[in-house]
Amino acid sequence: MMFHSLKTPNLKANFREAVINGIAPDKGLYFPDKISPLSPSFIDNLEKLSNKEIAFESIKQFVDGAIDDVSLQNIIKEVIDFEFPMISVEPNVFSLELFHGPTLAFKDVGARFMARCLNHFIGDKEKVTVLVATSGDTGSAVANGFYNIKNIDVVILYPKGKVSEIQEKQLTTLGKNITAIEVEGSFDDCQAMVKRAFVDESITKIKKLTSANSINVSRWLPQMWYYFFAYKSLLNKDKPLVVSVPSGNFGNICAGILAREIGLPITRFIAANNENNIISRFLKSGNYEVKQTIPTISNAMDVGNPSNFIRIQQIFNNNKVKLKDVLTAFSYSDEETRSAMKKVYQNGYILDPHGAVGYLGLKEYMSYHSNVQGIFLETAHPIKFAPIVEQVIESKLEVPNRIKGLLDKEKNTILIKSYNELRKILIE
Ligand SMILES: *Cc1c(COP(=O)(O)O)cnc(C)c1O
Repeated sequence: MMFHSLKTPNLKANFREAVINGIAPDKGLYFPDKISPLSPSFIDNLEKLSNKEIAFESIKQFVDGAIDDVSLQNIIKEVIDFEFPMISVEPNVFSLELFHGPTLAFKDVGARFMARCLNHFIGDKEKVTVLVATSGDTGSAVANGFYNIKNIDVVILYPKGKVSEIQEKQLTTLGKNITAIEVEGSFDDCQAMVKRAFVDESITKIKKLTSANSINVSRWLPQMWYYFFAYKSLLNKDKPLVVSVPSGNFGNICAGILAREIGLPITRFIAANNENNIISRFLKSGNYEVKQTIPTISNAMDVGNPSNFIRIQQIFNNNKVKLKDVLTAFSYSDEETRSAMKKVYQNGYILDPHGAVGYLGLKEYMSYHSNVQGIFLETAHPIKFAPIVEQVIESKLEVPNRIKGLLDKEKNTILIKSYNELRKILIE
């Protein structure tokens, strides 16, 4: 299987090169040359297969030629060693909980898969340094996913005082090959330093730097699995299924649409957005107008210009009519998000702010399409947004066992103010 750059279609890479490069040399996103449907009997028999078998069959065509079957099976075994439960919240409304991984965020699957693919490709031949800036969830998932992976060092920059306590502990308590750098500044300052390091020859001539950005194909593609697992758990497979995805950079929903493209029977996708709603405005008006990012309580979705939307358009051959047949987008204010959290809590289920936006999107669609069933994705454990959730539900959240010990651990970081300090750390 080959991939090509969406900017220059004859700029090709196999899966290995696409993973190592992250982004094509012309700064285009990689996209598969060919997307082949799975056999209908595979879809019909999902219930009889294990998650690992489903993961293997669904991703195989994309890594073909770059990772042998046995290695791929071993990677998958390590990546998805946790559950993806689907909980009935209301009649015909289900929450697919994607937060049972090690950092309680759905990004765990992509980060772990990427770490293992990269490790498979570089083997013992090379040493690479993964350099990332994070405002929260990406950093914790990447730190955890790459922890203890041979020949890969990870350096994570985060803005001092601007990530949640749990996220900070997840970043700063691992040690070994993970270095956490606290930056006196904003997320944008962290991002600017990372970008500068990538083009700084005094660093790149002695160190191979790579990013663990969400546009990397090895983070994007395994997200398809969630949708297969969800469909497998569905008891009634006759009623049309719609899936609502709380979206920021649109990687997760793009993977869902790809799963549909290779045969999964999902009637419609709902991109559920906070007030950063460029895509819902685009689908309504046809104008793609980038605005300044607005900070919200579902802050992992505070993205002004979603990178992966171009991949979604490509799946539909840039045909807007076909796109609108499958994709709907809605957006919600923080106030609406809070009241959804409150209402659903009264019915016995706790939403985090991102899941709440997904829930709202699903309910809005179902309010005028009565004969469907719907799944919304719960992308983070409510405890990760405890201050907001506890305030809304007026009750204390239980801390899950998995992270109880974490909060007592000592944080270990390097505090920096300037790019030069980062440069020194990377050169040492
Ligand atoms: C990253 C993230 C999202 C958005 O996912 P995209 O693939 O960027 O659309 C939603 N919820 C949470 C909790 C996240 O961390």
